[in-house]
Amino acid sequence: MSLRVRQEQGTIPWEPDAYGQSHLGGPLEVWRSAGPCQLLVFAAIHGDEAETTTALSKTLRHLTNPSPHCAVVLAANPDGLIRGTRANARGVDLNRNFPTKDWQSDPVLHRYTLDAPREVALSPGDSPGSESETQALIRLIQELKPEAVVALHAPLACVDDPNDSKLGRWLSKRSGLPLVPDVGYPTPGSFGTWAGEQRLPVVTYEFGLITPDEAVRKQVPVLVELLTQPIQQ
Ligand SMILES: [Zn+2]
Repeated sequence: MSLRVRQEQGTIPWEPDAYGQSHLGGPLEVWRSAGPCQLLVFAAIHGDEAETTTALSKTLRHLTNPSPHCAVVLAANPDGLIRGTRANARGVDLNRNFPTKDWQSDPVLHRYTLDAPREVALSPGDSPGSESETQALIRLIQELKPEAVVALHAPLACVDDPNDSKLGRWLSKRSGLPLVPDVGYPTPGSFGTWAGEQRLPVVTYEFGLITPDEAVRKQVPVLVELLTQPIQQ
């Protein structure tokens, strides 16, 4: 696949489809693959991880045409992204809202900064899968039927792959981030847990604690390869 010259990378050269609406009525957008969807890559299910959206957008802008095999969601939580919050506009951490066997109604505690204690309380939702963004992502996956999903997060600096898959090992090697089997704490109601229950392999690609500019320099070449080369399975 040919890549665009830098001067043309200001915009994404093809249009997305809406796969639903956020709580505030914003579009949930997917840039579809040209052929059958083997892989879905999504960013910013946590609205305060904007560097994942920037890096994935710059990746799409390298391409002249849709990826042959990979569908892309730049912001799974657009309301959080525009408000700068981890949660959606209703204060729900979407990555604890998926309808899993272990979903919990307890508040989700997260760190204000990476070195702070877990003290900021967010909601996991009124019930499993209560949020429109969660429901829409599940419907999208049921429609696309990808063979695997890569979820972009920050800033834990690792590739989390409970399946130790070829894709996870490739991403770890290519990005230089360590491969880990879990993030070291329970994540009830997370996307990864839900996908595991559906037997859908998920690799969580956690950028490090780096600037958006560094995220682009370090991660975009890896993501361009992921979108343009046959996937490692
Ligand atoms: Zn995250």
